Amino acid sequence: NVVKPTNFIQQIVDRDLAANKNDGQVQTRFPPEPNGYLHIGHAKSICLNFGLAERNGGACNLRFDDTNPEKEEQEYIESIKQDVEWLGFQWQGEARFASSYFDQFYQYAIDLIKAGKAYVCSLSADDARAYRGTLTEPGRNSPYRERSIEENLALFEQMKQGEFDEGAHVLRAKIDMASPNMNLRDPIIYRIRKVEHHQTGDKWCIYPMYDFAHGISDAIEGITHSICTLEFEDHRPLYDWFLDYLDVPCHPQQIEFARLNLNYTVTSKRKLKQLVDEQIVDGWDDPRMPTIAGMRRRGYTPTAVRNFCDAIGVTRSDGVVDVAMLEHALRDDLNQHAPRAMAVLRPLKVVIENYPEGQVEMLKAPVHPQDESRGTRELPFAREIYIDQEDFKEQANKKFKRLVLGKEVRLRNAYVVRCDEVIKDEAGDIVELRCSYDAETLGKDPEGRKVKGVIHWVTVEHSIPAEVRLYDRLFNDPNPDGHKEADFKDFLNPESLTVLENCRLEPGLATASPQQAYQFEREGYFCLDSKAAKSGQRVFNRTVTLRDSWAK
Ligand code: ATP
Ligand code: MG
Ligand code: MG
Repeated sequence: NVVKPTNFIQQIVDRDLAANKNDGQVQTRFPPEPNGYLHIGHAKSICLNFGLAERNGGACNLRFDDTNPEKEEQEYIESIKQDVEWLGFQWQGEARFASSYFDQFYQYAIDLIKAGKAYVCSLSADDARAYRGTLTEPGRNSPYRERSIEENLALFEQMKQGEFDEGAHVLRAKIDMASPNMNLRDPIIYRIRKVEHHQTGDKWCIYPMYDFAHGISDAIEGITHSICTLEFEDHRPLYDWFLDYLDVPCHPQQIEFARLNLNYTVTSKRKLKQLVDEQIVDGWDDPRMPTIAGMRRRGYTPTAVRNFCDAIGVTRSDGVVDVAMLEHALRDDLNQHAPRAMAVLRPLKVVIENYPEGQVEMLKAPVHPQDESRGTRELPFAREIYIDQEDFKEQANKKFKRLVLGKEVRLRNAYVVRCDEVIKDEAGDIVELRCSYDAETLGKDPEGRKVKGVIHWVTVEHSIPAEVRLYDRLFNDPNPDGHKEADFKDFLNPESLTVLENCRLEPGLATASPQQAYQFEREGYFCLDSKAAKSGQRVFNRTVTLRDSWAK
């Protein structure tokens, strides 16, 4: 019994199924162009397309929309497959490539020429622009519009044979130069590009345009519902025009939805690529990037991303989603599942003077405080421990519920200690604390007094060293992309990365793997960095803080 979220696309599918349209089949596709890594916006499209198929007994294809030979690369193809699988979706059969339909596209173009619906146009790019008219003025017919079918067929064949330079000729659909919809003013179908293609090598020097190739690809694959973002609404008449005039296996229905925009985030492959190329970030999978690879490395879970995509829903009106919603979905999932651990990020040594030298006690702490079934973990306790520098002050008022000179605090999962003495170096910096502990306070309140503060700790001897990277938003402006006078890179947050090199972790974290998220108690959610782990370094990424620090 699958729960179907009601959105307008599901309603269209419901109506189609009730009317037995498409023989009751639902076939969707996710069609990325392999010119970059997928980002959170693509995740929405993936969840929508795969989710729709899954919930309606259908299937979803993965199709690389690779009709543009210049910017595409094998690395992107591999990363896209990995990201879709990581999100938990499985495409139908093998991944497909629009480029594998190049022969068919070519035949369909010939069909259009033979039907008198396409012609070879030899206007220069500038002249073609002038003939195209404007939004307020109709265009004019190209002087080449009335070429004979025979001449068009011959010229198109010569284009294919590589006999002309780039830009010398294009193949255009013969539609309506006066249409108020600019997309219908004799759009280009094929252009000459003397560029090698990553799948077809040097077989082709003419390449089809998106609007022509996309609809035919959909039809070849038997797509029933071809879902795309709103900017393609004006292209739908063209999508339908091609499929109406061509003898294709079926005529899919194009449906548009609003793309995902997130504040404090840039979701444009082109701009993300700029950050990578200019080495502003550490690659496409930098944990600050809104790419799926970056989010995975940062410690996002597929569940969190999918829950977020479900929560924002599918609409036909553009809006901006608060990135705090994404972080909320993440905290929600991590809070339920992440085991707890203690990690001291800025160590300050503490000697518990009345604790016997050489003694080590094994204390127990819950793996997850809200779920007893997950058992306990062992924490060694000893005379020398570390606490966080930020958890101590020589003097403080009552609001500071941590350790203060002469006062008590509880060590989480262990005893109550009192700070008796502060040791400073020559520069006056605090280098060590001398404390005493109350042996009667393990799991019990102390006699006759209340101790409110609780801080985390690890032992000097048993804790393991690690580097911890604290991430913050990559941009410090809600709409980095939306400033006329400024470049999006002017709004990079200079504090998006803080590296802490001398952290100490509880010993159980020695076996952490990059896929396992932890809550470092009082600090946030963390995971082992997959890239550093490959080279044998122990680096933890902060996935997200415990609470939203940007909330007003
Ligand atoms: P970009 O602008 O980042 O380059 P794109 O739309 O050019 O994105 P494609 O590879 O063509 O990238 O996208 C594959 C699919 O993902 C398309 O169907 C597209 O509509 C969808 N998609 C891309 N960005 C978003 C977004 N922000 N929200 C929802 N869907 C998106
Ligand atoms: Mg695209
Ligand atoms: Mg694009």
